[in-house]
Amino acid sequence: MVPAYDVPKIKFATGNPTWSRAVYLYELGKVTQCKKTDGIFSAVVIGSNSYEVWVSSEKFDVGECNCYVGQKEELCKHMVAVAIHAAAAGQPLSETDKEMQSEPLCSGRIGPLSKDELLSTQSAIKVVMKFIKAYRGPSRMWFAYQGGLAEGCNRLSAVFSKLPVCEEAARMVIQTLLKLDKKLCQGGVDDSDGTVGGFIESAVKMLEQFAALEPSCLGQFKILEDRETCFDWQEPLLKLARE
Ligand SMILES: [Zn+2]
Repeated sequence: MVPAYDVPKIKFATGNPTWSRAVYLYELGKVTQCKKTDGIFSAVVIGSNSYEVWVSSEKFDVGECNCYVGQKEELCKHMVAVAIHAAAAGQPLSETDKEMQSEPLCSGRIGPLSKDELLSTQSAIKVVMKFIKAYRGPSRMWFAYQGGLAEGCNRLSAVFSKLPVCEEAARMVIQTLLKLDKKLCQGGVDDSDGTVGGFIESAVKMLEQFAALEPSCLGQFKILEDRETCFDWQEPLLKLARE
């Protein structure tokens, strides 16, 4: 039985600190007595106690654990560790698998975007934008919805943090931010806890670093001239471009 989720799905949907704690447990071999039966993965996870855990093979965040967090029906590090064991089939995780980017950071790598990078980045952004969608569900589904927004922003952080510092990359980032902005202002995205807004702010900081390393990026900031955005996040970039 192969679960319906993979390691990146678990990582981006979980976020830190739970993700890194779960990886730690997994790598120390604390996930023991693993069994697969009837659509679930179960195991005993050794922590400060032994915890009995199961997770669904369909959704990694559906399951149970008898630890303090799990008993509150929240996703705990033990459930995530069992999900990792299921998705990785007990094999070691690569550095890329483990690495968690919770905000976009400037790669510091000055240089052009290759054709391959351009295409793979464009298609990655397209996939991720589907996570940032309008909220139409009942109120009890709100937390799951927020989780989807966080997953989208975490995935986008990973994509942006890989970009080389150049004009073309700056343009892609700005265009993505404008699309996100449109979703926030007009697309019915309910960003009550500020996940998407916080992401946009971090991406603006990344673009400021781009401009410091590669001043030609400033030319791209002018795309933002005369735009109305939901919280005037473009202002610091325009100020830099005018100087
Ligand atoms: Zn637990």
